[in-house]
Amino acid sequence: MALDRNLAPNDLNAFWMPFTANRQFKKAPRMFVAAKDMHYTTQDGRQVLDGTAGLWCCNAGHCRPKITEAIQRQAAELDYAPAFQMGHPVAFELANRLIDIAPEGIEHVFYTNSGSESVETALKIAIAWHRARGEGARTRLIGRERGYHGVNFGGISVGGIVNNRKVFGSLLTGVDHLPHTHLPGQNAFTRGQPEHGANLADDLERIVALHGAETIAAVIVEPMAGSTGVLLPPKGYLEKLRAITKKHGILLIFDEVITGFGRLGSPFAAQHFGVLPDMITTAKGLTNGVIPMGAVLTTAEVHDAFMTGPEHLIELFHGYTYSGNPIAAACGVATLETYREEGLFQRAADLAPYWEDALHSLKGLPHVIDIRNMGLIGAVELDPIPGQPTKRAFDAFLAAYDKGILIRTTGDIVALSPPLIITRAQIDDLIGTLGDVLKTL
Ligand code: PMP
Repeated sequence: MALDRNLAPNDLNAFWMPFTANRQFKKAPRMFVAAKDMHYTTQDGRQVLDGTAGLWCCNAGHCRPKITEAIQRQAAELDYAPAFQMGHPVAFELANRLIDIAPEGIEHVFYTNSGSESVETALKIAIAWHRARGEGARTRLIGRERGYHGVNFGGISVGGIVNNRKVFGSLLTGVDHLPHTHLPGQNAFTRGQPEHGANLADDLERIVALHGAETIAAVIVEPMAGSTGVLLPPKGYLEKLRAITKKHGILLIFDEVITGFGRLGSPFAAQHFGVLPDMITTAKGLTNGVIPMGAVLTTAEVHDAFMTGPEHLIELFHGYTYSGNPIAAACGVATLETYREEGLFQRAADLAPYWEDALHSLKGLPHVIDIRNMGLIGAVELDPIPGQPTKRAFDAFLAAYDKGILIRTTGDIVALSPPLIITRAQIDDLIGTLGDVLKTL
């Protein structure tokens, strides 16, 4: 097909779109053709305010010149180098810069190409790590109800979103789930971290009693669960999880694919909550969403256990053709530079109180049954239409798009996570327009 951007209805058939209502979309397609800073341009020439940083990833906004130029330069200089048994400087530079902003105690970086791959990598490292230390029986993995850890088999096994699991067979064996942390009866409309629910972490003791700690490799949780509709950790919950995992020799993995790179006002949620996991999975904001790339960050204790055999032997039989890809790495370096130069993590922290007030101003509007917020992330939960769960929020999504704002919905929850460059006036626009939408539902 030629580079004619005006697609006829038949041109829409070939692309089987991910996580999309394909038949609905193809009857009334929503197309972006350009983006700049806080806005997308639609095919029919409208501006749409990005309330979701793409898919929780474009933390510095869109088409930032520094990032674009870095990609162009790298593509012209060294487009690809073999990822195995060969290196190139940019991947090392990015790893060092990541460690500079990572929590104290995190010292190594393993590259992947997505959040899903970061999760698979971390789960595999966890099992192999115990084996390397002579505890090969530790293979069980523990996730959490409503958790989202990507869509590969490991990730949907430890994940807890029913629709992502139920038609895909038996999944990994040896997986348990902690209860989710959503307590609407007690915590509805809490501003920031909820008061109630720290004791939900104690369920890990039940699982340990059931199987024996000597069979459990790792617990993986999102420190703040994003894709399931922004569920915040109750006060004290993550601390408890850390204490119990430590007590039983179980690794703790924080899936920070959404919370990494400033969403909560710190580089990582681990710093925001003051809890150090053994591994952190990342992607998305690592490259501002511009080039696919992910990374697993680990402590020295995790990494060093693999560095004990003969020097000429490969330590971990794992990796991807594109691990540390030069163009992705250059994009990552330019992205971290942009965050640092513009102080975007601090900006998110500074804007958080304004964001919180704006979001909670929606309380009392039709159908709003809960509002949750932290840093520059938020959720507005709507009461479902009886017999038609997800329809109310999907209608809101369509109406919002028509009114010029991009929101994201999951179930009957509207999730917001704007680029960290958003201004107060744009927050007013985003929340005001969402309020108008809710009134029309
Ligand atoms: N983990 C978490 C916490 C996520 O939010 C996501 C994506 N929303 C993933 C993993 C998967 O990332 P990807 O879509 O890049 O595979």
